[in-house]
Amino acid sequence: MTGLHRRTIPYAARAGASLSPREMPIRLSGVIKESIVDGPQLRFVVFTQGCPHHCPGCHNPETWDMGGGFMTSTSLLWKSITENPSIKGVTFSGGEPFLWGEALAEIARCAKSRGMSVMTYSGWTYEQLQKKAETEPGTKALLSSTDYLVDGPFILAERDLELLFRGSRNQRLLDVTGYPNTKAALEIERFDMSGRAVYKE
Ligand code: SF4
Repeated sequence: MTGLHRRTIPYAARAGASLSPREMPIRLSGVIKESIVDGPQLRFVVFTQGCPHHCPGCHNPETWDMGGGFMTSTSLLWKSITENPSIKGVTFSGGEPFLWGEALAEIARCAKSRGMSVMTYSGWTYEQLQKKAETEPGTKALLSSTDYLVDGPFILAERDLELLFRGSRNQRLLDVTGYPNTKAALEIERFDMSGRAVYKE
């Protein structure tokens, strides 16, 4: 042995080294471990429990009850997400994900450290969320760590089955990666094969 060994790079020092979430409780309705219909590429979908919006025609009314679903933790949820190395992104749906902003922001932070994209649904509009974020740290944290936001309530009279990842025409698919530095958001038309957003003209 010459004492000259190939240098081992500590895992935490490698580009994209992953993090662990701060331990926090979270109430979920359920998860889908693999989905291609809840955002670009293969995604892990988290359905939070509790929704104050009560949109007529909602597909998930079982998620409305604030005491329904089941309690779990950010660490258990993160463990489940990382079991599948093929997952390219995480989607937070509901229920209303922003009721669990702080816990989901922890998951989002870890997901991004692994190069995953983060998509979040909300019954509030982007403008309403920005206003709420002025006084709610959890809302600000989740909005800041979201890449793609589908915003606004489901409106039955505006239902359109042709829309990408949305149920009604009032809802927008937004790139909010500029938040909080840039308040404006880019509207996304579609994603290309590699998952990159293509924007509306
Ligand atoms: S915001 Fe979503 S989950 Fe909540 S009532 Fe409306 S459609 Fe249903």
